[in-house]
Amino acid sequence: MIRSISGASVHKICAGQVIIDAVGVVKELIENAVDASANVIEIHLYDHGFEKIIVADNGHGISDTDVHTIARKHHTSKLRKFEDLDGVHTFGFRGEALNSLSSLSSLSIHTRNASSAGKMITFEKDGGTSSVEEKRRGHIGTTVSVFELFRDVPVRRQEWQINKKKEGCRIMSIIQSYAIISTGIKIVAYHHDGTKRNASATLVTSGTSLASNLSEVFGTQFVGTLDHVEFSFEDSHVRGMISKRNTESCRLSNDRRFFYVNGRPVDLPKMARCIAETYKNFLGKSHAAVVLNFEIPTDRYDVNVTPDKRKILLHDESRLVESFRRKFQEYFEAAEVSTKSLGR
Ligand code: ADP
Ligand code: MG
Repeated sequence: MIRSISGASVHKICAGQVIIDAVGVVKELIENAVDASANVIEIHLYDHGFEKIIVADNGHGISDTDVHTIARKHHTSKLRKFEDLDGVHTFGFRGEALNSLSSLSSLSIHTRNASSAGKMITFEKDGGTSSVEEKRRGHIGTTVSVFELFRDVPVRRQEWQINKKKEGCRIMSIIQSYAIISTGIKIVAYHHDGTKRNASATLVTSGTSLASNLSEVFGTQFVGTLDHVEFSFEDSHVRGMISKRNTESCRLSNDRRFFYVNGRPVDLPKMARCIAETYKNFLGKSHAAVVLNFEIPTDRYDVNVTPDKRKILLHDESRLVESFRRKFQEYFEAAEVSTKSLGR
């Protein structure tokens, strides 16, 4: 007999695709904080996130009217209609993350905006209802707390328990990827020991510049092996830092690779291959550190491919990559000429 699945079950099934793991939680909450124009973001991981994940920001907060619609499925303040996708400048636009979290965890949101003293929104375990109460908050901003993630998805929770530390490292890498690119935002991540309750800051970036963020994350010695790079190709522009064009720097680079499109961490496998090939052709080594932000017109790509938005479809990708390759080779050739003219 064909029957419809209950609403609550559908909710849980779909939510599990939006939020696959704790890394996804941290990613979504950081993105919401950046979208809210925060310039300070604090991430607290209790027992590597297994016990609790808290992300606090000093962004614009949530208005008194919005506290009643927050975390409803496909409710967002960032997109109105499909056509707007071409010009979307925010990380979020699908209105799914908080809704999914409300059914996969115990979720609470403490927020205050310019015209309120503070509100606490607590979500019931059924994932559908929430209660709102007055709760004063010192400064404008939002704190989202996620407890007992995947409590109703035992396979994921058990798997996570076994790999807690490994997952904690993956969470740190996703925090790093946002911390590196976020200029103008101070990002601090704290690790709270599950038993001792003491907190230590495991990552602090000041947001002063890309170079300072990188040296705060990986150390000044690492940044010393990098060069600034910047050039235009077609209607796009790329800027960032990459391993200096010599074998010694590549050896020290440790193969760190961070790609961004308009500040969004993404996978760009074809660009990555093109860079590796160029290093290999010129230096005989393909391992290079890469931190590059591609500024590409928003109507030239589609981020709405997977819920985590890491995969992006570039319009006419082959042409764009080839055009990038030519310019990147010119950049390498310029280094060869200047090295020779200096008699090195
Ligand atoms: P999306 O980011 O795609 O809009 P979310 O479920 O992540 O979907 O968030 C839903 C809405 O909640 C956002 O559109 C935004 O209006 C509000 N919101 C979420 N997090 C914050 C935050 N940290 N500060 C202010 N508003 C927030
Ligand atoms: Mg979001």
